[in-house]
Amino acid sequence: MHDLTGKIALVTGAASGIGRAIATAYANAGARVVVADIAADKAAETADAMGHGAIGMAMDVTDEAQVDEGFARTRRELGPVDILVSNAGVQIIAPIVDFAFADWKRMLAIHMDGAFLTTRAAMRHMIDAGRGGSIILMGSAHSHVASKFKAPYVAAKHGLLGLARVVAKEGATHGIRANVLCPGFVRTPLVEKQIPEQAKELGIGEDAVIRDVMLRDTVDGEFTTLEDIADTALFLAGFGSNALTGQSLLVSHGWHMQ
Ligand code: NAD
Repeated sequence: MHDLTGKIALVTGAASGIGRAIATAYANAGARVVVADIAADKAAETADAMGHGAIGMAMDVTDEAQVDEGFARTRRELGPVDILVSNAGVQIIAPIVDFAFADWKRMLAIHMDGAFLTTRAAMRHMIDAGRGGSIILMGSAHSHVASKFKAPYVAAKHGLLGLARVVAKEGATHGIRANVLCPGFVRTPLVEKQIPEQAKELGIGEDAVIRDVMLRDTVDGEFTTLEDIADTALFLAGFGSNALTGQSLLVSHGWHMQ
């Protein structure tokens, strides 16, 4: 199940954090990997460091033309994509009453438009190639719970559950599965940045943000790790049938139990 030899995987936001860990795990499992990221130089460096024939690709997931061209280029250079991980994401935090409309729209563009555009392109190539595939949308514990100051993030991450369920239904006859991977807090640049931001919003120290906000509802006060998420993404990519589709998998130290 964990052997991806011969598979082509495209991971967005793969020049950093969770995306990079997943792309590396896929490459080590034998897949040819596309490291797609808006940060073009970092994507190229990451792919070079990864080896196994990985290629770096500049892709802004909110740009329809760039996404479609990225999948077409993948097909030309490697072959039709078998695995998509729609992972690119950012975080902007503020109370709703102070949230700028432009920031709301940017968040939905990256998290929702990006998931739609990459999923649509992947499905087109998967259906055309006729060999099925696995689509993994990067959700969050925030696909199931809410936190203050994260209105567009929580709304978008909940929305991905709906998208994955429709993909599961439309993809089934083509052997295309779709699932949402929902991590708890993982110490990536996205999270490191928000620790001081949350401390300021809440008027508490950074240690208190970690202990009393981020990890308060976990079973053991532990961060989720990059390895935890990469292992789960490997399992979801390699699973062999429609038995596991339209689901969300929480990997969060029990922060939320469904
Ligand atoms: P990160 O900041 O380490 O990496 C995000 C990557 O996305 C960066 O390389 C960035 O350049 C890229 N990116 C941003 N905008 C993009 C765009 N428009 N097009 C293409 N690439 C773009 O963050 P991370 O923590 O690894 O987060 C990755 C995903 O995991 C996000 O969807 C995030 O919401 C989700 N997530 C993270 C955590 C966590 O605790 N870190 C928890 C749950 C879910």
